Amino acid sequence: MKVYFEEIPVSTNKRFELIDITDKVEEAVRNSNIRNGICLVFAPHATAAIVANEHERGLMEDILTKIQEIVQPERNWKHNLIDDNAHAHLGGALIGADRVFPVKDGELVRGTWQNIFLVEMDGPRSRRHVIVEVLGE
Ligand code: ZN
Repeated sequence: MKVYFEEIPVSTNKRFELIDITDKVEEAVRNSNIRNGICLVFAPHATAAIVANEHERGLMEDILTKIQEIVQPERNWKHNLIDDNAHAHLGGALIGADRVFPVKDGELVRGTWQNIFLVEMDGPRSRRHVIVEVLGE
């Protein structure tokens, strides 16, 4: 079995933002030269997350609106006593920092309406990273 590891640097511009990283993940899968296996997409961050969904401007805003409804950034969370970003940790905990995709015939397998996004919830940040690890043969 082969293992390929790539780190994609991402900078974000807003407090809440979806960054489409699909092209970079697919490029990493091609760089791996792995034909069949799985691809882990992992954000090593407690205040960001990874999702796969449609790249449609309205929906992207809807997703961010819904996340903010759930995590309630204005609420007096206890973590805000030491660091003013409890809502982003809650979002990270609820959504998760990773997604796994099949790799078949050298290509990442995803649905037509499944682009891959980094979910920024505590931006802007100049040094976010997304790890792409491809395992297979
Ligand atoms: Zn914090």
